[in-house]
Amino acid sequence: MNLRCVECEATFPPQLIYQCPACGGILETVGQDAVAAFSFGEGGTPLLRASRIEAELPGFSGEIWLKDETRNPSGSFKDRLIASALGRAIAMGLRGVVCASSGNAGASTAAYAARAGVPAIIVVPAHTPLGKVTQIAAYGAILLLVEGHYSRSYDLARALAEKHGFANLTTTFINPYAVAGLTAVGHEIVAQLGRQAPSHVLIPTGSGPLVKGVWQGLREAGASTRLVAVQAAGCAPIVRAFEVGAQHVTAWGMPETIASGISDPLIGYERDGSYTLRLVRESRGLALSVSDDELRSAMRMLARLEGVYAEPTGASPIAALPKLLAGGHLPTGACIVCMITGHGFKDGRAYQEMPARTHRVEDPHDTAAVARLCEAAMHDFA
Ligand SMILES: [Zn+2]
Repeated sequence: MNLRCVECEATFPPQLIYQCPACGGILETVGQDAVAAFSFGEGGTPLLRASRIEAELPGFSGEIWLKDETRNPSGSFKDRLIASALGRAIAMGLRGVVCASSGNAGASTAAYAARAGVPAIIVVPAHTPLGKVTQIAAYGAILLLVEGHYSRSYDLARALAEKHGFANLTTTFINPYAVAGLTAVGHEIVAQLGRQAPSHVLIPTGSGPLVKGVWQGLREAGASTRLVAVQAAGCAPIVRAFEVGAQHVTAWGMPETIASGISDPLIGYERDGSYTLRLVRESRGLALSVSDDELRSAMRMLARLEGVYAEPTGASPIAALPKLLAGGHLPTGACIVCMITGHGFKDGRAYQEMPARTHRVEDPHDTAAVARLCEAAMHDFA
């Protein structure tokens, strides 16, 4: 296995470097990997048919599938990246790991580091959802909270990795061994669908490693699938560049969205966004954004129609479906896979603010009264 620059195509022997020494470009891995992932059960997640959501989309005639990444050990697809990159870091004899994260990659790094007995420093924005912060702290990692947007955490993690000689497991495109762990997603989707390749895969997108992993896996499996990068309207640098036909993505200002997992303004590593945009276009796909209200409604649909409890980011592909349909992007017979990237346990706040059918029982001995209450509630449901 070697490292190759996606810009100038120079190749390098495997080592821990985070950009092309020749041009500063993004590095990818090529060839077979002799280093085993540090695995504890990530990947191989279920692909679930979403027939009740299909029925709720007027005018849609095709299939919708959910790739349920909430089932990974720490509750998000980030486990795939961390297993791969931590395996490499351990093989290279590194003393510890650092990760800048909006929460999920930090939780994943902390969990895997705990299991490997390796020290971990996790850097997150101070406004990271409580569920994610709690999870990171529970695994015993050193947790640093940084005021401001994610890119500030990103810069600090880079500096700390250098200072301590730790591996940087940040899950943008910075660590090529991490991104290599995502190729399996594309292969799994093709194997699970069996008789056909998906026509579209909808992917929650921050900087975009998951776009790269799915794209590469599908290509290796011989599929020609359109990739749809979904961003939050309050942080949509890639969508903005896509809509004006630009080659290069420019950084976003201050993100404002409930979708913490894709709240990445790309300040200082805009090239990551440009690369993701290039892959989206190569797949003849598109990029689009969804509002916080559309995210809430999608979370509700996923939970109530399919029994899948996702954080706002994880529901973003569902939020994109009505827009794609209205835009004429989903022809009859479309076979769509939605990447459900993170668990609802991580950020339940949006659910807590939704109307729920919860009732306080005053007297549990009065079963007749409770039965009447349930009867009325069931009528509500219909
Ligand atoms: Zn280069």
